[in-house]
Amino acid sequence: MQDVLIIGTGMAATALANTLADKARVTLIEKSRGFGGRMATRRREGFEFDHGAQFFTARSQAFQQFLARPVEGACIAEWQPRLTTLEAGRAPYKREWFEPHFVATPSMNSLCKESLKALEGNVTIHLGCEVGSLEKIDSGAAPCRWRVFSKQTDNRQEILGEFDWVLSTAPSAQASTLFANTNFSHLTRLHDAKHLPCFSLMLGLNAPPKLNFDLATVKESSIALIVANASKPRRGATHSLLVHSDNRWARENFDADRAEIEQQLIDASCSLLELDAASIVHSDLHGWRYAKTEVPADEDFLLDEESQLAACGDWCLGGRIEDAFLSGQRLGLSLVKLLNS
Ligand SMILES: Cc1cc2nc3c(=O)[nH]c(=O)nc-3n(C[C@H](O)[C@H](O)[C@H](O)COP(=O)(O)OP(=O)(O)OC[C@H]3O[C@@H](n4cnc5c(N)ncnc54)[C@H](O)[C@@H]3O)c2cc1C
Repeated sequence: MQDVLIIGTGMAATALANTLADKARVTLIEKSRGFGGRMATRRREGFEFDHGAQFFTARSQAFQQFLARPVEGACIAEWQPRLTTLEAGRAPYKREWFEPHFVATPSMNSLCKESLKALEGNVTIHLGCEVGSLEKIDSGAAPCRWRVFSKQTDNRQEILGEFDWVLSTAPSAQASTLFANTNFSHLTRLHDAKHLPCFSLMLGLNAPPKLNFDLATVKESSIALIVANASKPRRGATHSLLVHSDNRWARENFDADRAEIEQQLIDASCSLLELDAASIVHSDLHGWRYAKTEVPADEDFLLDEESQLAACGDWCLGGRIEDAFLSGQRLGLSLVKLLNS
């Protein structure tokens, strides 16, 4: 069996690992301490926030089939929030969704977490470990192998292992850095795919917010989305409000002082929702540098058979959770054919 490294534990990595688990010796290495990537959940001081992706749709049969498989501890549920659109100077207007929208339960990261944990035994998972660089092992003739190093800290770099294949599920800009010193034949394509950033403001209130919506899309503002986290199925903390900034506003302000950004978003939220700032008892800000795809690669995945490197993720096909799943699964299925040939 060949040794395959998957970088990441988000949706694309989950799809890849599920496809390859019994076909290769699979290792996943994730830089965060938790699973899920941008399907993220943060708990602080009794508050709970899905501070990355809010929901997903399942339009393809492949994703529907994946979601239908029973996995212990992980569930998905349809979310039917009260929707509205807010715009300064206009009365709020109601919207509707015309297809089912789902969330993972009990939290957004549960889907990847439990699906990957169910593979343990077949796959090895290392959390809290950032891949820094790769070095080709010169064995003379093909096939090639890769020595993989951790990110350098305090002039120290650890060898994380040696692998026949290295598959990145990181956002394209990060994959491009990882593969920079390799002979990966799709480096230009990695550079061409682009992401937009986003700020997530997490507000804990002293009482459940009195809102006449569960999810508001906001127009012409530094804010793009407001969600009452507890309106999602099986969420406990009732006083949590999640605010996403507008992506282009985040791009203009991404390197500004974070305390100032947080205050600006708090002020904008209080003004939009007629919220008393004194009711905010907890506040936290997260900046996603690679939140949403601006320019996709328009490929299922980028695979270089000769160097035995590949990159996949949402940015290949679009910018949604289902795109990440399809990109990961399609790369996995192509690799299975190569591993068997
Ligand atoms: C604020 C926000 C709101 C969103 N809203 C929605 C929504 O409502 N609906 C929707 O469908 N989508 C939404 N998305 C997009 C959705 O989250 C992504 O499409 C999807 O989660 C991407 O999955 P992925 O596996 O491709 O990438 P990721 O989830 O980013 O996974 C990549 C993983 O690789 C890890 N990694 C990167 N570099 C390294 C390294 N060097 N070493 C080790 N590990 C590494 C990362 O830590 C990460 O866990 C949103 C995203 C954000 C940020």
